[in-house]
Amino acid sequence: MKLNEFIIANEVQIRLGFFFGVFAVMALWEVIAPKRALTVSKLVRWVNNLGLVFLNSLILRLLFPAAAVGAAAFASEQGWGLLNYYSVAGWVAIVVSLIAMDFVIYLQHVLVHAVPALWRLHRVHHADLDYDVTTGARFHPVEILLSMLIKFATILVLGPPLIAVVIFEVVLNATAMFNHANVSLPRGLDRVLRWLVVTPDMHRVHHSVEDDEANSNFGFNLPWWDRLFGTYRDQPRAGHRGMTIGIHGYRSTKQAAWLPGMLALPFVGKVTGYAINRREWGDSDD
Ligand SMILES: [Zn+2]
Ligand SMILES: [Zn+2]
Repeated sequence: MKLNEFIIANEVQIRLGFFFGVFAVMALWEVIAPKRALTVSKLVRWVNNLGLVFLNSLILRLLFPAAAVGAAAFASEQGWGLLNYYSVAGWVAIVVSLIAMDFVIYLQHVLVHAVPALWRLHRVHHADLDYDVTTGARFHPVEILLSMLIKFATILVLGPPLIAVVIFEVVLNATAMFNHANVSLPRGLDRVLRWLVVTPDMHRVHHSVEDDEANSNFGFNLPWWDRLFGTYRDQPRAGHRGMTIGIHGYRSTKQAAWLPGMLALPFVGKVTGYAINRREWGDSDD
């Protein structure tokens, strides 16, 4: 099929093109109308957060050169996966794939908050002392590899069309940069848009230093899962300008903002330091 050949041949260019395009728009928006003042200089943030993104891209390229699109092509050749096994219309397969892959990402995100050892990896994303377009791609390399393996497994079971995998990756990348940006939409627009896509104000709640707020709003693309599964939270208690971003106990610039500190972050502290079975409850019974 011509389209599949084109996608496989140009996958990197397509993804990089969207990445730089959306990055430039959000970065400009942050300069013109920043929501919060940064606590660490933008230069230090960008050099280190983007350094981590570059390192992750390099590792992924070396370990999995064919990437998720390669897995989808393999599943299609073998006839593996639900959507390759049952003949469904092309557009139905695309829509089902996008929704299903987003649901898996939501579940994965809840998982890395719930399991103590995985939270250590995911801590790197949350330890960021500020919240801007570069936070969206700031993940520990081991979490990136884990995500890739979960994605491969999902693709082999689901059998999504190649085009759906590329659309999903481009959209996930774009929405992550959009909803981590240090910007906000007018309140009314934010309220309406929240029914369709995760907005900056919605995901910022998830980066609160408060445990109950950080264990809310796990969605990256579609906002429905949080509402459906009871993890939705409207706004941070201290307000978007008053709230503290980051994690308790990991607040030094050296550890939270510089690349060597970030890479070491999963390996410091007690393994039970923060986990689902250590949560403290108040007296209210809701
Ligand atoms: Zn998280
Ligand atoms: Zn985030």
